[in-house]
Amino acid sequence: MGTVTPLSRSTDVVVVGGGIIGMLGARELILAGLRVTLLERGTAGRESTWAGGGILSPLYPWRYPDPVNHLVLWSQGIYPELAESLREATGIDPEWTRNGLLILDPGEAEPALAWGRRFQAEVEILPPDAARALEPGLHRDTGGVWLPQVAQIRNPRLAKALRAHLLDLGVCIEEGVTVTGLLRGDEGVAGVETDAGLRRAGKVVICAGAWTGRLLAQMGAPVVPVRPVRGQMLLYRAPRDTVHRILIHEGHYLIPRRDGRVLVGSTMEETGFDKTPTPGAAEELARVAESLVPALARCPKEAHWAGLRPGSPDGVPFIGPLPGWEGLYVNAGHFRNGVVTAPASARLLADLVLGRPPILDPGPYRFKRVGEVADNPQ
Ligand SMILES: Cc1cc2nc3c(=O)[nH]c(=O)nc-3n(C[C@H](O)[C@H](O)[C@H](O)COP(=O)(O)OP(=O)(O)OC[C@H]3O[C@@H](n4cnc5c(N)ncnc54)[C@H](O)[C@@H]3O)c2cc1C
Repeated sequence: MGTVTPLSRSTDVVVVGGGIIGMLGARELILAGLRVTLLERGTAGRESTWAGGGILSPLYPWRYPDPVNHLVLWSQGIYPELAESLREATGIDPEWTRNGLLILDPGEAEPALAWGRRFQAEVEILPPDAARALEPGLHRDTGGVWLPQVAQIRNPRLAKALRAHLLDLGVCIEEGVTVTGLLRGDEGVAGVETDAGLRRAGKVVICAGAWTGRLLAQMGAPVVPVRPVRGQMLLYRAPRDTVHRILIHEGHYLIPRRDGRVLVGSTMEETGFDKTPTPGAAEELARVAESLVPALARCPKEAHWAGLRPGSPDGVPFIGPLPGWEGLYVNAGHFRNGVVTAPASARLLADLVLGRPPILDPGPYRFKRVGEVADNPQ
C-alpha cells in the first residue's frame, strides 16, 4: 500500500479504481502518450476483479443486449495476445486457456443457434453421450450447448500481471488512497480530492466498480445507476482433470483451472456493500457442484469468498464522458461480464478521451437517465 511510484502530482489523467477496468484503461492511456495516475483505495485488483471466475464469455450470451456482445467479441479477439504479452513482460502467466463452454441446459439450444448465426460464433448442440464424451465425470445424463471457442483466464493472476506491467510502463499507482471528491476549475474538471490530498489533472476517469454510483453522488456529479450485486464462489482443490470444460447448469458454473482446482459460482444477491460470505451459499454451491460432478465430493474445499459486481440495469456498462462535466469520464457497470468485456471497454474509453475514431459506436454506452434503461435480463 502507499505510493508505488513518484510524480503523482504531475499527470494528465487520473484514473479512479484499480480493478481490471481501471488498469486496462490506464494502460491504453499511457500507451497513447499521456501521463497517468491510478488511485486505488485498497490494493489494485483485489475487489470484483479478484473475486470473479474469469470465464471469457457471458454465461448465456444470447440473453444479453447487442452492445454487451459487441464488447465481448472485440475483447475475445485480443485476449490471447494480451495474456501472452503480459506473461512475456512480467513473467506472470494469466493462464488464458481455451477449454470451451458446455451448457447443460438443452432448452437453450434454439436461442443459442440463432445467436451463433447472428454473431458467427461456433455453436454445437450435443446429445447426452457427446456431452459425456467431453466431460466424462458428469453425473447428469443430459445434452446441451457446446461453445468450443470459449476461453477462461485466471483473473487474480491477470490483475497481478497488469499491475506489474503498468508500473513498468510508468503509470503512477497510488494504493491506499481513497478519492472523496472532485476538483472543478473554470474550464471543467481539475482533478480529485483524496484522503491523501489533492491530485490535479485535466481529465478524470471513474472506474470504481460497484462503488461508482456512490462515489459520483458524493462528488455531486451525475449519478450512473451502478449498484453492488454480491456473488459468492467456492473453490475445490481437485486433482488435475477432475473437470475438463467450463460447465454451466441452470445458472451455476464450474471452472477448471490448469492445476486442477475447480471454482464453483455463483450467487446473485442484493445485500448492499456487504461482501461477507455466508454458510448457506457455500452449501448451495457445493450441492450444485457435487451433483454435477460427483468426484468433487471427495475433494477438499479450499476457499469460499464473495465479491461485489458492478451491477447496471441492463448489463450494458456506462462508458464515456459525463454530460455537463468537461473532462469527467466513467467506465463502470460491467456487471457479470467485466473481465470478458474489459479490453474493448478500456479501448473505447481511451478513444473517447483522446478523440480518436472509436472501435465501436459509443452511443449504446453513453450515460442515460435511470428511467431510460430496461431491467437486467438475468
Ligand atoms: C463472483 C463473481 C464472479 C464473476 N465472474 C466473472 C466471469 O466469469 N467473467 C467475467 O467477465 N466477469 C465476471 N465477474 C464480473 C467481473 O469480475 C466484474 O465485472 C469486473 O471485475 C469489474 O471490474 P471493475 O474494475 O469495474 O471493478 P473492481 O474490480 O471492483 O474495481 C473497482 C476498484 O475501485 C476501487 N475504488 C472504489 N471506490 C474508490 C474510491 N473512492 N477511491 C479509490 N478507489 C476506489 C475499489 O477498491 C476497486 O479496487 C464476476 C464477478 C463476481 C463477483
